[in-house]
Amino acid sequence: MHPASLDTLCWMGNLDKSVLVERSDGFDYGYAMNCVCGSVSVLSAEDYFAEADGAHMMCAHCGASIHFGIAVAALRDQDDPALDDEAVSRFAWYHTSTEPEWPSPDYARRFVEDMEQNDHRPIKRDHYVSFHTTKALHLGTYETAIENMLRRMHDEHDGGSQFYLYRVAIQLQPGRINPGYRDENHDEAAQLSISDLDSDDLDAVRYLNVHEGTGVLSLAIRPETIDAVQRIAIPSHDLALPLIPHLLDRDFKDLAQAKSEMEAAQAKVESIPHARRKMMYFGVYDDPGGLAKKAGDLEHRYIDLWNQLECRLAENYLPGVSPSIQRDFNQAMASWKSANPTVDPEGFASRYRSMAALLERSGDVIGQVSRQPWRDLRAS
Ligand SMILES: [Zn+2]
Repeated sequence: MHPASLDTLCWMGNLDKSVLVERSDGFDYGYAMNCVCGSVSVLSAEDYFAEADGAHMMCAHCGASIHFGIAVAALRDQDDPALDDEAVSRFAWYHTSTEPEWPSPDYARRFVEDMEQNDHRPIKRDHYVSFHTTKALHLGTYETAIENMLRRMHDEHDGGSQFYLYRVAIQLQPGRINPGYRDENHDEAAQLSISDLDSDDLDAVRYLNVHEGTGVLSLAIRPETIDAVQRIAIPSHDLALPLIPHLLDRDFKDLAQAKSEMEAAQAKVESIPHARRKMMYFGVYDDPGGLAKKAGDLEHRYIDLWNQLECRLAENYLPGVSPSIQRDFNQAMASWKSANPTVDPEGFASRYRSMAALLERSGDVIGQVSRQPWRDLRAS
């Protein structure tokens, strides 16, 4: 379809959701960093991860030394298409949530209910409730949404939670979005509330995301801006990466053996409280027969073997993902493991292949969510 005719549709309020524009660019991106001279220099994903030269790089323009990191992260593409107000409504936007019916119309009611059930009594109750229930909603690229899920799994006790991927169509009237973008380094875009949007007379705030999908533009919006959403539960087991035969045979065998040796050694000291065992291990207390030492050493070995398994999984199942996102992924998977303490290495590897598909087969995942029926939010 010709862009001009599409524009007309958008602004007439008849968004054609079958032609939303995708702009997924994968998980192996480099970075752009601001210099005090006002220009931007690029940095490879590898140098960013390795914090090369003590996280310093030379400005490509003035030669000054830049201490790189998210504090000076810049827009990766100075001509990012999301800078175009009209393009913003034509994009497929993404969001991940543990809410099966996001955006939930009764979120505020349930928030208060949960608070009362848990006997949680904040001092400034009304302020607390309104702060937590009137935040703007956040939309981003596919990559941003997936990285946000990884961070929540690791940092916000959602390691074992069921997540959903939402593909979102929005409608924005001209002039209802900020010109340019806010810089999340300087503004608290993540904390934007509906009343902030009210006071600026906006429906959407475009901001530079530096925490997820670093260097791309995200949106903070009023819920009413959402036209409709599509949803899949993730990970999708149909899309799991194919098993690489025999890749992990040795790891599984070593882990099984290490586990039984560790458990046998632990059984001999199980009557001793854990804290005391630790002191025995470090030689603070007497350790007759070296039993606590042996149990501790075998536990460390078992943990090391798990780490080796996780590294091998990343190397083989995430070849198209940058090292820092591989690390985030493995931390998220470690949180999943903590939430599922009885999982064996085979079960872990199987989950890993399903989750890794979200990064390695993003086109297929996007295809799957874009074939789902739309839930129209305007009608409700
Ligand atoms: Zn410079």
